[in-house]
Formats: sequence, structure tokens, C-alpha cells
Amino acid sequence: MIKGLFLDTATQIARHWHADSEKEEIKQQLEGLNLYCSEYVKCQYKATLLNSLILLYNLLSKFHDLPTALRETSRYENSKIAGGKLSPAVQKRIRDVGLWLLQQSFEEQKSYLEDLIEQAWETFFLEGIKEPLINQTNCLYANSQPNKGIRGYEPIKITCTKATPHDCGINEFWKNHRVQLEILANMNISSIQSDLKDEKELTTIKSEASLIASGQPPHGERCTVTLSDAIICIESTHCPETSAVHSINKKHFRPLCELLGIESKP
Ligand SMILES: [Zn+2]
Repeated sequence: MIKGLFLDTATQIARHWHADSEKEEIKQQLEGLNLYCSEYVKCQYKATLLNSLILLYNLLSKFHDLPTALRETSRYENSKIAGGKLSPAVQKRIRDVGLWLLQQSFEEQKSYLEDLIEQAWETFFLEGIKEPLINQTNCLYANSQPNKGIRGYEPIKITCTKATPHDCGINEFWKNHRVQLEILANMNISSIQSDLKDEKELTTIKSEASLIASGQPPHGERCTVTLSDAIICIESTHCPETSAVHSINKKHFRPLCELLGIESKP
């Protein structure tokens, strides 16, 4: 019987920013359980949600009113003005936050967004979460603070690269979790029973895990993108009590949790 839930980035974003019906559904799933998260997920949250807020702010500064800024968000050519790529995932996050901001008065919209970027994002992230955050990776890949310049904010930089891993402890992480690394490297994708699975994604995870297992460096994209879901699953096993991973990204998390012997929700 699980007593806790370890929240993945997708759930962390959805519980505050998705449609009301989805927020309510997630709230019910989290109720009565201890909630955990990690420094690593916080980095991912900054690289995704916080950076999307920053891009929206920059578009709002350029186009002046929110409905226009939201409309312009859907044009990829505006990426330069926004300060970062307006990919479909970024556009969706911007629209989610934009819908909430539209409900505020015109005068308050920009200052609310500024407040979100400066501090409120973290308040949302930590809401209901037990502290201190779990930290098994020491990968501080989006560790900088939003920096405001003349034309807007600088997006948070992804600082963990293969060439400059800074103090990233992901090497130590995989040494400590050799068993799970081998499971990922040797997985038989066709024998995974989960009805939801992304075979292409699993193939990438398998080959990247194999490279690390054979001694190649785990830093850079391997610790910030390709193996991030697997890292999150493994971090969840360090909650102080038996916990499941909660991610609305079921297609990615269900097969990985099955493979690693971890419970996944919903
Ligand atoms: Zn790293």
C-alpha cells in the first residue's frame, strides 16, 4: 500500500495550469497522500514552465496586449522575439497560462506574469510537497535565475552539457543505480505489457542507457532530456515511504515503472 506520490514535471504543471476538470481530477488523485518531488524535477519545471512564462512575457512586451501576444505565440517565426523556440509544447503551456491571465484585469496581467516569473512559479511548484526535496542527481541543469534585461527576460539556460557538466552528480547517480541502468540497457521492449507505450522513446532510452553502462559520460542531453523520465522513476524510490510516481504522461511513465518495478499513477 503506497503512502506517498512522487510528482513528475507533467503532473506538477498540470495540477495548476491545465483545464479545471483536469486539475480537479489530479487533486482527487493526490488527496490523502504525502507528496514528494526533487531538485531534478524542479530543474525540469524551470526549463519548461518557467521558460514558457518568460517567452510569453517577452511576446507581451513586444505586442503589448495579451490576446495579440497569445495569437502571435502560434507563429514559430516569433521565436526570436520570444527569446526561445515556440515549439508546439511551449505554445500549449503559454496558452494554458495565458487563459488564466486573460481572466485578470488588463492592468494586472503583466505584473502577475512578472510575479510568476520572479517567485510565484516556485510557490506553485512546492505547494503541498514535503521538504527538503529529494536530490539524488545533483544535476542542476537549469539552475540559473530569470534575468531581466531591457527587452525582457533571458530564458533559463540549460547548463549541463557534455563539455561542461559543472558539478552534475549524474555519474555518481548511475554508479549507485547500476542495477536499474542494466535493466534499462537490457530491456526487451516487446515484452513490456503496458497498453500504453512509446516504442521509439523506449528504444532511445535503451540505447542511451547501454552507452552509459559501457562507460560513456551520462552528462548533457543524456541527463537533461533522453533519460529524464527514467531518472525521475528511480528518484522516486528514495521517498521516505513507499511511493508511486504520479505522471499524467502515462505513455512514458507506465512502461518505465513496469520495467523498474515501481508503481505508477494514474
Ligand atoms: Zn547533468
